[in-house]
Amino acid sequence: MTEKQQRIPKFTAVEFNGGIRFRFYCELSGVAVHTTGPVAAETAEEALQIAWEKEGKASFNFCRKCGRWVSDVMFNADVCECVDCAPWEGTPNFCSHCGRGVSHKDVFCRKCGTRLRYGEVWT
Ligand SMILES: [Zn+2]
Ligand SMILES: [Zn+2]
Repeated sequence: MTEKQQRIPKFTAVEFNGGIRFRFYCELSGVAVHTTGPVAAETAEEALQIAWEKEGKASFNFCRKCGRWVSDVMFNADVCECVDCAPWEGTPNFCSHCGRGVSHKDVFCRKCGTRLRYGEVWT
């Protein structure tokens, strides 16, 4: 990847029906956020650009502070920054990913493993 290209989050690519399907991952949680339909292009890099621009991007949020692409649950929309840069205040009562009730001592959801708290535990 050259510096001229815009930043694209981590992804995997699978050939499918003569095209390539891309799966894009949140840069903070590592969770798969969006999988595109098969994209056909001259080169794999071109296909990646198209897949990201036309499909992937819309499912992500761009942190204006650190420049990472993150999923909705990893994004603090109040300030347009990821939760690593702008942690939520207080401790959540529910997992933001699966909705399970959590105890205030939990750092990770006991059901799905999503990180519940940020800031003091993020080093
Ligand atoms: Zn950030
Ligand atoms: Zn959960």
